[in-house]
Amino acid sequence: MTERHEIETALWEEFHRLNEAHFAGTLRLSELLVSTRKKYGGYCQPQKRRIVVSWQAFLDHGWDETLITFRHEVAHLVHPNHSAAFWALAERLGCPPDRKKALPPKDRGTYGWWRYAYECPGCHTRVYRRKRLTRSSCARCDRKFNPQFLLHPVKTLEMNVDER
Ligand SMILES: [Zn+2]
Ligand SMILES: [Zn+2]
Repeated sequence: MTERHEIETALWEEFHRLNEAHFAGTLRLSELLVSTRKKYGGYCQPQKRRIVVSWQAFLDHGWDETLITFRHEVAHLVHPNHSAAFWALAERLGCPPDRKKALPPKDRGTYGWWRYAYECPGCHTRVYRRKRLTRSSCARCDRKFNPQFLLHPVKTLEMNVDER
């Protein structure tokens, strides 16, 4: 049975290999974490030089997929967005060019793979959505539309990172 720290060790080895082969050893990574949270395949916080990949995605899809996700996130250390330059680098690092969508964990946990978060001004319940909401009010505070409980968008930590 593979353990999380073994995956972390193997990914650090992959990082050093990529760093030598493509960046003359100049790329910096401060933290590499294999996380048991289930919301993403992986993400990168370029300012913090931090990469997180999903343990559950590894269990669901295997080592090769985890490698692809990891290389994708390593490319984000250089290009934070999905620009043409990013995809060119990702491909050089060994991400298949034909498949840009990730295989996320099969069970994405409580909230699923949401992109937008909203909060009710009345009860402060948070609502998570894949698509943007327009003029919705909190169903817990009032079952009918009520502008008093209009859901307003909130920033969350997870929205500032690249989700793969
Ligand atoms: Zn409410
Ligand atoms: Zn990305």
